Amino acid sequence: MKTALEWKHYYSKREFKDNYIYCGKDLGAACTDAGASFKLWSPAAERVTLNLYSAGDGGKTMARIPMQKEEKGVWSWHTKEDMHGVYYDYTLEMEGEKIQSADPYAKACGVNGTRSMAVDLRRTDPEGWENDRAPEESAERIIYELHVKEFSWDASGGFPEEYRGKYKAFTCKDTTLYNDGVHPTGLAYLKELGVTHVEIMPAYDYGSVDEAGDDSQFNWGYDPVNYNVPEGSYSTDPHRGEVRIREMKEMIQTLHSCGFRVIMDVVYNHTYSLDSWFQRTAPWYFYRVFDDGRISDGSACGNDVASEREMCAKYILESVLYWTEEYHIDGFRFDLMGLLDVKLMNRIRKELDERYGKGVKILFGEPWAAGETAIENGAPRAPRGNIDLLDENIGMFCDLTRDAVKGSALKIKRPGFITGASGYENDIAESAAAWGKTGVSSIKGERAPAKAPSQIITYVSSHDNQTLWDKLGETASEEERMRLNRMAAALYMTCQGTLFLLSGEEFGRTKDGMEDSFNAPVSLNRLDWALAWKNRSLVEYYKGLIALRRQLPGLCDKSSRAAERISDIYKSDGVVGFTVDNTSEAFSSEWDRLRIIYNSTKNGISYKLPGEGWEILCDASDSGMWRHRFPAGNRVTAESQSVLILGHRAQFSGFRAGIVHIHSEEKTDMEQREEKQLLKKQRRRKRWQEEQDAV
Ligand code: CA
Repeated sequence: MKTALEWKHYYSKREFKDNYIYCGKDLGAACTDAGASFKLWSPAAERVTLNLYSAGDGGKTMARIPMQKEEKGVWSWHTKEDMHGVYYDYTLEMEGEKIQSADPYAKACGVNGTRSMAVDLRRTDPEGWENDRAPEESAERIIYELHVKEFSWDASGGFPEEYRGKYKAFTCKDTTLYNDGVHPTGLAYLKELGVTHVEIMPAYDYGSVDEAGDDSQFNWGYDPVNYNVPEGSYSTDPHRGEVRIREMKEMIQTLHSCGFRVIMDVVYNHTYSLDSWFQRTAPWYFYRVFDDGRISDGSACGNDVASEREMCAKYILESVLYWTEEYHIDGFRFDLMGLLDVKLMNRIRKELDERYGKGVKILFGEPWAAGETAIENGAPRAPRGNIDLLDENIGMFCDLTRDAVKGSALKIKRPGFITGASGYENDIAESAAAWGKTGVSSIKGERAPAKAPSQIITYVSSHDNQTLWDKLGETASEEERMRLNRMAAALYMTCQGTLFLLSGEEFGRTKDGMEDSFNAPVSLNRLDWALAWKNRSLVEYYKGLIALRRQLPGLCDKSSRAAERISDIYKSDGVVGFTVDNTSEAFSSEWDRLRIIYNSTKNGISYKLPGEGWEILCDASDSGMWRHRFPAGNRVTAESQSVLILGHRAQFSGFRAGIVHIHSEEKTDMEQREEKQLLKKQRRRKRWQEEQDAV
């Protein structure tokens, strides 16, 4: 067999490109009751045999059928028989070796994905699937990152025993805490919280969990085996290929009916191992190799998929389109997008836009890699520094904002803006405008502003690294922690960009400080719904912020001019304040201007407000003040370690700029006493207002 480098040279030749790039969209097995066709792309094979089986593993071979060689490296076989439910794989003869492989283009498979299955997809549709539609979009997308097993594993969720950890758990709409009938968990809880998009962590077929093994196994699943098949361990029967398909569709159907759009986490940058169906059918075509023969490992997972090669780009694009068409997926989160090439990402964006409308399917990814990669011909990749090369509707997780707010995710003891570190004020101010002013450092060493807030995913926690609660605990006292969690939430939720959170961030989720829980026990990773109710006040704070956000067009704006709405920026040690133009023709808001103050110092800061009509929308402890039309008077205080959100009521004309910040060090004792009084008064008035509202 040729070496990796010899294969690389073979695929780079003009002759190969002229003769073996196949444009048809029919690779894989297509199957109806009128017949089936099997097509495999394997340009180097000398002979290919299709093996048929009645089971997904074990048992006898039902038939061995020689495949017909067609043009462009394609092998095919057709039949008029109904092949639905028949399992298959291929035997390829190549350079004197016999290689057995499942179908890289498979749409169904047996247990652990080692054999493919022919499937008539119409026979996998749950009842009413033809009427399944994504819910209407609201003023803002709030993305909630969720793992299938974590969601329903814990007994506190109140899910039926047999559905815990499965796709089926998502079909239970009205679960409650230990089934008490009172405290919503699961989807009912998420609905109340106000999230709009559920991002499902890897749910394509991955390799790290034995589907025939016991139910206590856990993995995040960033190790793809079959890209176009759902993972079997989340189904109630991984041995029957059609079950996982139907159950995943049922999950999506229920999520849609409950008002959530569904985003899929996709890992096209690497495969579970180099011994993949890609490799067995087209050796080294789908992988990057350096010119000195070293195997590219920019993913730190042992291999890098060569997204820039024609047949590989085609594979990834068609896979994305397949999930949208067959499973009604509403968006994609690309793992290590920084390893994929810009051309492919923009092409996916364009194809989705043409089919579904501009920006309708949400696309974003991780704009980084874990190491050097051997991309061919200097094709530009999609890390953060190439933000200017990507379509305005391709988003990036903004680690700059994440780390500025809470401190480095990687250096756990390092504090951030809210935990008292100095020097982050510029990044915080830039975060407010979703990096649309001075921008991020480009690959060329210049600065490239984000084209629009649609390019920025604003977040402070995801499945990687510590949870927000655990990170805060590294530097903050127990007493400060809850307060700082509220501050972190109010801070990023008042920045432009698309909002994203790790499930449970809103209830102080903990993994006992663990940084990388990808294969830790499910007992550590699971969502603890009892904690969600114990920390109810924090959940309420998030709820108020999300509901408020939807009423603030100045922050929701995803247009290229959104950054211009942020003005009057004030920065001093530990303090950032800015004004937001909250007027909008698209949707009306009660407030025409916002003044937002991030105060991470340990002192309160007072402000003189110009003119009339200011209201307090959110303070350190209450994110629902906006519901009460709470007047601010002409002087307010931003409490220590908190965010204060002020709104200027639209009917009071003559908004004037020029809010005066009064710092504690400049204050006389008298002023400091006054400030305390003022704060007390503010709180008393708030209580009074609430009582009035209650009456
Ligand atoms: Ca699997």
